[in-house]
Amino acid sequence: MDEKDNKKRLTRGQAIRAKCLDCSGFQPIEVKLCPVVNCPLWVYRLGYEVDESNQKTGKAKKQEKK
Ligand code: SF4
Repeated sequence: MDEKDNKKRLTRGQAIRAKCLDCSGFQPIEVKLCPVVNCPLWVYRLGYEVDESNQKTGKAKKQEKK
């Protein structure tokens, strides 16, 4: 069995969330309050796409309904 088979496969949203938690010392509130709005991951940092007021975007809401 190769090493990749042992790793849990994450969705893109979960992977971005994990990266943001790592970046913020594993403090969820720090991810939510992240001031680096020019970071390419910023809109996805909560595990789904949000706008400037941390509200889910229309796209994320549609995915939630599925
Ligand atoms: S959005 Fe960028 S700067 Fe902010 S926590 Fe995520 S990776 Fe770090």
